Amino acid sequence: MPIAIISDIHGNLEALQTVFRFIEAQKIEKVYCLGDVVGYGPNPNECVEMVRQRCEIVLMGNHDYAAVGKANIDYFNQFAREAALWTRKELSQANHDYLLSLPFTHQNDDLLMVHASPTNPKHWYYVLSQNEAQMEMHAFSQPLCFIGHSHVPLVYSREKLFKQESLLFEQSQKYIVNVGSVGQPRDGDARSCLTVYDQDEHSVRFVRLAYEKEKTYKKIVKAKLPLFLADRLLKGY
Ligand code: ZN
Repeated sequence: MPIAIISDIHGNLEALQTVFRFIEAQKIEKVYCLGDVVGYGPNPNECVEMVRQRCEIVLMGNHDYAAVGKANIDYFNQFAREAALWTRKELSQANHDYLLSLPFTHQNDDLLMVHASPTNPKHWYYVLSQNEAQMEMHAFSQPLCFIGHSHVPLVYSREKLFKQESLLFEQSQKYIVNVGSVGQPRDGDARSCLTVYDQDEHSVRFVRLAYEKEKTYKKIVKAKLPLFLADRLLKGY
């Protein structure tokens, strides 16, 4: 049975709605979310409510942690910091409490899921190279680890980096899958990204969906969030 794995929504409601429309049309019943539901975007409350309602598992991301006042935002860049402070003010008490309750990891016999890195899920390291991926492989015993955080969809095996749209896993191999970003893609493709994991086929597929990004753009401008956060949505950087 296929599972949709989403991450890094960042308060982008138009992108999230588009992703859920696809999930419904494909009759995918299970949805997991790897965190960063809020931060950067103009609709944090709506996104938290939608994710809470529809996702079976939701993990803590660094921007969620910042939005509830737990993460040190000194290391955030200026735009992220401004948006984190804005999000803190916007979040309803119920959504704040919900975000605060999120776990950092989820695992079973088949997979591990974290927002950032398997080695230290609370330290928000980025897995950005083959070398780093190889080191991170020591941190889990399952064949698969799903991560988000970098907003770039790709798959690492011990030896190789895969950037293609879909991949059939080999039984004896171990993989780290970065599921990409729903609400702020950074791989040069402005379309929203989600990952479909098929347990029976033992495969993953990255799905890209165009959404009404001009609408999100206008909302960011209206909310007086940094303009850079609107501009980057148009090109996916
Ligand atoms: Zn993120």
